Amino acid sequence: MEKCIFCEIVAENIPCTKIYESENILAFLDIAPVNPGHTLVIPKQHYPTLLDLPPALGQELLEALQKVAKAIKEGLQADGINLGMNNYRAAGQLVFHAHFHLIPRYEKDGLTLWPQQKYESETKMQEIAQQIINKL
Ligand code: 5GP
Ligand code: ZN
Repeated sequence: MEKCIFCEIVAENIPCTKIYESENILAFLDIAPVNPGHTLVIPKQHYPTLLDLPPALGQELLEALQKVAKAIKEGLQADGINLGMNNYRAAGQLVFHAHFHLIPRYEKDGLTLWPQQKYESETKMQEIAQQIINKL
């Protein structure tokens, strides 16, 4: 199996600019930020995507996300923060070690991250909802 770059960072074989660490979570600066301070929050253990993460990690993960988000907002005087996660290649995932992006945002930074569309009808919207609900 190819070496996972984020596992290498956790093992300290590759350096990172560490922001925060707890027992099972590590946060470090993204090497190619959307805005300066863009931080990646990852589980130290290797899980490929959101769907592989153990729910038991939830509390520690949310604590880390909130702590770092608050520190980014206050430390960098950010007006807002995007929390993002790419899962699978079609969604832009390049590193297959699950990770959350915390991106500082500013009123006039000119970024638009979510181009949106409309449902063709209310019926179509209900149909789509049902296709998801059927799999819960
Ligand atoms: P993805 O597209 O998989 O959600 O995002 C992967 C992110 O990891 C990218 O934003 C990329 O800039 C970042 N990245 C890739 N390799 C490294 C690295 O070696 N060190 C750091 N700090 N970030 C990396
Ligand atoms: Zn990994």
